[in-house]
Amino acid sequence: MHDEERRAGTVKHEWRCTCGKLLGVVEKGRLQIRFARGHQYLVGFPASTVCRGCGSLNELGEGEKPKTTQA
Ligand SMILES: [Zn+2]
Repeated sequence: MHDEERRAGTVKHEWRCTCGKLLGVVEKGRLQIRFARGHQYLVGFPASTVCRGCGSLNELGEGEKPKTTQA
């Protein structure tokens, strides 16, 4: 089932606010946003969101790679 994904490698980029809060995950050209209780959205670009932590407006355009803070 997941052979294609494995071949392409796991192309996931975390989209984080400058304050470090996770805003979403970019996977295969879609932005994946998860909420509590398993609610989930897949949206296209450009996307913008207001951070629930610090209130900053974050925008992510098409083809833009979010800064990943993952080590
Ligand atoms: Zn923030």
